[in-house]
Amino acid sequence: MNRIALASLGCKTNQYEIDALAEWFRRHGFTIVDDKEPAEVYVLNTCTVTAEAERKARQLLRRYRKLNSEALTVVCGCYAQRSDLREMADICIGTAGRSVLPQLILGALEQTGSRGGLEKAAFQTDVYEELGVPAVPSETRAFLKVQDGCDNRCAYCAISLARGRARSRSIKNIILEARALAARGFSEFVLTGTNLNLYGSDFHGAEGAKNTRTADLADVINAVSQVEGVRRIRLGSLESTLMTEDFVERISGIRPLCPSFHLSLQSGSDRILKAMNRRDSRASYRDAVSRLRAAFPGAGITTDLIVGFPGETKEDFEETLAFSDEIGFLRIHVFRFSRRPGTLADKMPGQVPAAIAMERSEILRAKAAELAVKAIADRMGQSFEVLVEQFDDKGRAEGYTPEYIFVKGVARRRRSDRDALGGDMPARGAIVPMKIVGSDGETAVAEVLSAENAL
Ligand code: SF4
Repeated sequence: MNRIALASLGCKTNQYEIDALAEWFRRHGFTIVDDKEPAEVYVLNTCTVTAEAERKARQLLRRYRKLNSEALTVVCGCYAQRSDLREMADICIGTAGRSVLPQLILGALEQTGSRGGLEKAAFQTDVYEELGVPAVPSETRAFLKVQDGCDNRCAYCAISLARGRARSRSIKNIILEARALAARGFSEFVLTGTNLNLYGSDFHGAEGAKNTRTADLADVINAVSQVEGVRRIRLGSLESTLMTEDFVERISGIRPLCPSFHLSLQSGSDRILKAMNRRDSRASYRDAVSRLRAAFPGAGITTDLIVGFPGETKEDFEETLAFSDEIGFLRIHVFRFSRRPGTLADKMPGQVPAAIAMERSEILRAKAAELAVKAIADRMGQSFEVLVEQFDDKGRAEGYTPEYIFVKGVARRRRSDRDALGGDMPARGAIVPMKIVGSDGETAVAEVLSAENAL
């Protein structure tokens, strides 16, 4: 009996990698089980963004041992890349080598392969690593990894230290996977990577001239948009520096591209952005957002903000609050600064006391909730196409508008006996028109205008 449980912590890219591994094992006769159940193999893709993510990984590895002490435990990913987890798992690799992980696992199961730590350096990190099978998700939208690694060194960030240099996937392979997933009925695709801004930065132009980009993210979006069955394209996390006039012009004509942009800002204070070694400023960020809103009226702008970065004063934090109001974010992911070994910020003076960081994160989360409610109010009475992802316990159809407003859709009341459309609910995976008629906290309540998949 070969039951395998595969789990991922952290970002969409990690989830993509685990979905691809799961598909490999599914195709080779393994039974995929939940990682809360007994299995013969456990695979965990780890994250190093915060100390909390690392603690969760250790907790899960211990749990797998408890669930089946005979099981083969495998750990990979960013935390495993930066730490020695050989005490906690039988096979440990880092952020490269996932393409050979199936063989390593089969070898260990047949006792022909080694258990115990493998030299991470054994795996290449200067070219994009194809996993060889499509990442078939259990959700209704598919993640499409197009890039890996990052050449930047933001002062707080351990990701670039874990994932290595920026490397881009060929557009040919991106298209092949998009076709395979579209053929399975997936119509919404989220392009993901470590830093999508850097897509193509490693492609050499003619005569090997570095950085003469032969392709960039706009080319990827355009290519994916032409795959039959692709109805909606979303973008993973971006930096505002990508939103030049030329780039916005080029993406503005791509119809399946959803007007939802996650522009990671991190702080609303120019002084702190500088200390973070970020590449944008309030002014450049503001310009990028206005360019996007001009090209995509009503676009949803979401972001990441860190509170408690070393040296952050009350005034810096107030600038972050004021700038959040000015931009009118649709959603804010709030993070408390987490010291990461090996990063510049770990050694910086002026570490902010945990209590102050906690207080600021609560204030910013309240601001985020206020802005999310305002974003719904601003769109009251408007109709949007929603991809139905699941149904809640009241039978309401849940999903996101193209702008990334989370919606719960209820059947339209039958107005008269002749009103044929009233009452019908769409199927999971359908993209249907809904009209926002109310809100329930940060969730919009909508009326399902038609249960028919809007083609
Ligand atoms: S851009 Fe900065 S925060 Fe993002 S992965 Fe690179 S170094 Fe980390």
